[in-house]
Amino acid sequence: MLIRRAEIRPGTLRDLRLRGEAIAAVAPRLEPHPGEAVLDAEGGALLPGLHDHHLHLLALARARESVACGPPRVRNRAELGSVLEAARPDTRGWIRGIGYHESVAGELDRHALDALRDDLPVRIQHASGALWILNSRAVEAVGLDRGTPPPGAERDARGRATGRLFRLDGWLRARLPPPPPLGLGAVGRDLARLGITGVTDATAGNGPQELRILEAALDAGDLPQRLFVLGHESLPEPGQSRAARGPLKIVLAEGALPTPRALTGRIAESHARGRPVAIHCTTRVELVVAAVALREAGHLDGDRIEHASVAPPEVLPLLSQLGVRIVTQPHFVWERGDRYLEEVDPADRPWLYRARGFLEAGLSLAAGSDAPLADPDPWAAMRAAMTRRTRGGAVLAPGESLSFDEALRLFLSDPADPGGAPRRVEAGASADLCLLRVPWTEAARAPAAALVRETWCAGRPISEPSAAEGRRLRRDAPPGPGRPPGDRSVRPG
Ligand SMILES: [Zn+2]
Repeated sequence: MLIRRAEIRPGTLRDLRLRGEAIAAVAPRLEPHPGEAVLDAEGGALLPGLHDHHLHLLALARARESVACGPPRVRNRAELGSVLEAARPDTRGWIRGIGYHESVAGELDRHALDALRDDLPVRIQHASGALWILNSRAVEAVGLDRGTPPPGAERDARGRATGRLFRLDGWLRARLPPPPPLGLGAVGRDLARLGITGVTDATAGNGPQELRILEAALDAGDLPQRLFVLGHESLPEPGQSRAARGPLKIVLAEGALPTPRALTGRIAESHARGRPVAIHCTTRVELVVAAVALREAGHLDGDRIEHASVAPPEVLPLLSQLGVRIVTQPHFVWERGDRYLEEVDPADRPWLYRARGFLEAGLSLAAGSDAPLADPDPWAAMRAAMTRRTRGGAVLAPGESLSFDEALRLFLSDPADPGGAPRRVEAGASADLCLLRVPWTEAARAPAAALVRETWCAGRPISEPSAAEGRRLRRDAPPGPGRPPGDRSVRPG
């Protein structure tokens, strides 16, 4: 296939030939071969396909089958009541809510939930991802009132379960009926439409079972992207050429920190096997604990800190000395910034979801969406990184803002080298590409997902072009491999 007149760098128009999985040639002008498909990029920017360095695919697929229970969709108890009332059970007969926050209806427990819906088992996940709240039917269904509750299951003064489960995802999953088969097709298509050609699944619990589901989705073509998987010690090496195993994911929770010796030991053991670690740190204390443990255990290239949500200046020298990479979520500034401005300790606010500060400290910085905990749209994340604007119109730590090129680069590094050199559109590179409808300067002024015209992964188109686009894609020969022309899957609203 020939792509003509694409702006591969600001101000540089080129023709490109894709052959197999790679970019075969880049030149000011290339003549079409007989029968070759030709796409006129009309001067639109052609970027390396974007990589989301931190999301949760299976949870993202589940989230599509779930009820949004938090802002901006749901803002108060009355609205929560009406979405739960209208909710239909999934095939397990449960209602699954996500994104709850206390600003909606205070601290929910089983009784508060019973008052909103008590005819079916209901479980609602807190927006932090750290807490599930079950109504009484759900408490009964998983046997929380019987036997010894696991640590993390909150109890009231009389010793009865409140229905609040902290960091007990695995425990809960083991007690739920088997889930309906997960469709990752819609997730894969949505990501492709955003220009995303690769994702890093950052789920701490990823092991053999999760890898099987993800590889099946790659095999079936449901997930057309490249896949880099963080996870548990038990996570095997994937067999799929588009999947690779990444660092060991370690989740730190300030309320239940491991001993320094245990944490250092776990890191050192992973390093001894040649596997870097990815440590989840959302508070100042967690970040300090992680940095000290990495210093003790010794650094391995590829070690990363997920989130680094609060990064005060005194920690940065140690982080950069360690050479650890930072994987941040700029979109939280937009989605959660107003809440941060109310709830986060004023002393921590200047150091929230930093970007400029990390770059100035010489740290490698990459970004991920943390979807489904935030919107997976990388363009919205770039806007947030550039403007530091919250949804409510406030500006959070404006000194941390990035230029468009810097914000874009957060999504351009190789998954095994987050924050490293951006991949480039050049001959010999893999044909993972994202074509925009507009030139570079226009995209830089107002980055938006709607600007994505077409996405290719390993030389194959993975986003469906619109009907008009399809007509413009002149085919002189019978259609080659790829999507049959009649295939138009439904776009979610
Ligand atoms: Zn995450």
